[in-house]
Amino acid sequence: AKEKGRNDYQIFNTDMKSVSINRLRLENELRRALVNEEFELFYQPQVDIGSARIVGVEALIRWRHPEKGLVMPNYFIPLAEESGLIVPIGEWVLRAACKQNKAWQSEGHPAIPISVNLSVRQFFQHNLKGKISHVLEQTGLDPQYLELEITESMTMDVDHAIQSLLELKELGVNVSIDDFGTGYSSLYYLKKFPIDKLKIDRSFVRDIMVDPNDAAIVATIIAMTHHLNLKVIAEGVETEDQLQFLFQNRCNEVQGYWFSPPVAKDDLEHMLRNGIAA
Ligand code: C2E
Ligand code: CA
Ligand code: CA
Ligand code: CA
Repeated sequence: AKEKGRNDYQIFNTDMKSVSINRLRLENELRRALVNEEFELFYQPQVDIGSARIVGVEALIRWRHPEKGLVMPNYFIPLAEESGLIVPIGEWVLRAACKQNKAWQSEGHPAIPISVNLSVRQFFQHNLKGKISHVLEQTGLDPQYLELEITESMTMDVDHAIQSLLELKELGVNVSIDDFGTGYSSLYYLKKFPIDKLKIDRSFVRDIMVDPNDAAIVATIIAMTHHLNLKVIAEGVETEDQLQFLFQNRCNEVQGYWFSPPVAKDDLEHMLRNGIAA
């Protein structure tokens, strides 16, 4: 038993070492990626159900890795969060998104907001307002065409969240709550937060046709947003049945594979030219 215990320990120890070596390697690669500008934005249309018109786009980061090819955010965002690299990466995303949206407007596309995901670290960063304001000035994007997505977990420190949100609102940007329904959210405070929109998490949307509980939750969230005068968008819409359900329940905006997955700039521009998604 003693012998076995020692082996277990050694195995554990070796595993831990390789885990931390891998993390270090990834962290270094992320730093290099920033310097070498290996990040890219993909864009997913947000669509008005009634008209199928594109009424917004969400910017989603991708990593064009020299050997691995296109790397998805779930692979590197968690480590970027932990290491703090998310702050410079997030700033890159913000600047690139504003710049692109401004360029689309200059090229004559109808003006629509671009949504950018804010990480916890960015949200609680000192002088977030000043940084965003600086990016808006540099890129010339009108603040009403920038939407910042935060998650419920960032609103748990209620006073701090309200303070930060008020500062963002002073800039004239829009704020939405992403993945709504998956985290702690006090409905009491929801009405106190100066936000514009709720994004219903795709885990609820996924099962609306098979799980009556999820259908009830989604219908209730939509009804609530109308009472609170908030906009609402359903994420992860993949089927026509889901679309129908959402439309009947007065959700007017959707985002999901049914219309389009996130796509590269050229493909999004193609959709913008047609005015409608897909
Ligand atoms: P998110 O903000 O909830 O973004 C939506 C994710 O759902 C995207 O994954 C998108 O591709 C996926 N999705 C959209 N429609 C559908 C659908 O119909 N079905 C399914 N199954 N999935 C759908 P993606 O691009 O891999 O991003 C994953 C997460 O990574 C994002 O979730 C967000 O939390 C994070 N992320 C992405 N870009 C950034 C960024 O620039 N900054 C930060 N902080 N986080 C980011
Ligand atoms: Ca999002
Ligand atoms: Ca989401
Ligand atoms: Ca998410």
